[in-house]
Amino acid sequence: MPSLEVLKQWDHQHLWHPFTPMQNWTDTDPLVIVRGEGNELIDSAGRRYLDGVSSLWCNIHGHNRPELNAALESQLHEIAHSTLLGLTHIPAIELAKRLIDLSPPGLARVFYSDNGSTSVEVAIRMALQFWQLTGRSKKTKLVSLKDDYHGDTLGAVSVGYSETFHRFYRSMLPEALRLTPPHVWRWREWLSDEEALDRAIDEARRLLSQHCDELAAVVIEPVMQGAVGMWPQPSGYVRALRELTAKHDILLVCDEVATGFGRTGKMFACEQEEVSPDLMCLAKGLTGGYLPLAATLTTERIYSAFLGPPAEGRTFYYGHTYTGNPIGCAVALASLDLFKTDRVIEHLVGKVERLTTRLTDRIVPLRHVVDVRQRGLMVGIELAGDPDTRTAYPAADRVGARVTDVARAHHVIVRPLGDVVVLMPPLSVKPDEIDRLVEAVHDAIVTVTEI
Ligand code: PLP
Repeated sequence: MPSLEVLKQWDHQHLWHPFTPMQNWTDTDPLVIVRGEGNELIDSAGRRYLDGVSSLWCNIHGHNRPELNAALESQLHEIAHSTLLGLTHIPAIELAKRLIDLSPPGLARVFYSDNGSTSVEVAIRMALQFWQLTGRSKKTKLVSLKDDYHGDTLGAVSVGYSETFHRFYRSMLPEALRLTPPHVWRWREWLSDEEALDRAIDEARRLLSQHCDELAAVVIEPVMQGAVGMWPQPSGYVRALRELTAKHDILLVCDEVATGFGRTGKMFACEQEEVSPDLMCLAKGLTGGYLPLAATLTTERIYSAFLGPPAEGRTFYYGHTYTGNPIGCAVALASLDLFKTDRVIEHLVGKVERLTTRLTDRIVPLRHVVDVRQRGLMVGIELAGDPDTRTAYPAADRVGARVTDVARAHHVIVRPLGDVVVLMPPLSVKPDEIDRLVEAVHDAIVTVTEI
């Protein structure tokens, strides 16, 4: 193998990193991760870092879990890949059955793809085609929430549009209607929690009833809107959207790519509101954070609209080469086993409480922390230059990024969303690791904002 210095040089010369300002990247000495063990990442010098964001929100049971490794290896000895186009395989079948048994009532069919964005693409296209096939051809528009993110393929971007990220492709995007979720009313109009929830529901009621004849689906991140700043929704919002969409015959798509598999404290965030969506998108944690695999779950009502003699052309013509990859499915099955044997969801209660206590004691009192938002093990810590008026720091100060740099020097990996510092440890995080995570972030915030 070439030396580490040569590898770093090649990285700077040839690699283009996602969501990364590359000019800054090439000025830095890259951290090269060579191993994972438990909830830690280990770099090329043998230093250990707590994985405070679950390797981009996907790791569930820790790295290098013997049970997941064994499932991967065992499947590898059978077959690494075979297509689901015109053939089937055992791990895909078994996983479909397990997902349906686990998911909210009414979901009956599983369509595989490769990542969160494609799981949303699938949901959008199923919704659009469903209405065309059932004679409601005017239902062609989508609704989503302001401050939602649904991935980076163009369909997903059309419902999760962000001016900063997506303005260059605007000409390619069908425009979705946007609902104003409660936090926007709360913080940009300075309303109380209750008033904000009422205003958000009122707006949804008006918009959905006014446009119901042209609306195919409402696409939401339920309970916690992650990638645009960790904005939790007050209890009652998702339920209200479910009731309104059902009343007006609009499909509800719950994008559980980030919230699924225990992150908010329940297996799926929809369960917090006792909601069954028409379509549910899963990815990230599906394989315990091991492999790219996604699934879009839907109802028999939607599925049956696609049935008919092939010549009628009702088929869902969608799929990717590695859709439902057998190794991914085998590891996902082993991950679901671990949820049971490790009693992951039961143990979450104590972990979530400990995290809340530590955040309350150590982070909330800090002068430049203006909001700490938590649902389960998903946390956003918002920093502001002027906490009294909640005025942001100048973007050029890169305060969030600097906090995560200092946390890294304390051997904890976290990532910022602007000046919101995100914490999202694996569900296997241990009590002392929760303390370590919060302490490192505390020290980093103090170093960057108060010294
Ligand atoms: N949907 C949500 C809610 C997400 O948080 C993300 C990624 O963060 C996606 C979709 C896109 O997933 P992927 O990056 O796997 O395409």
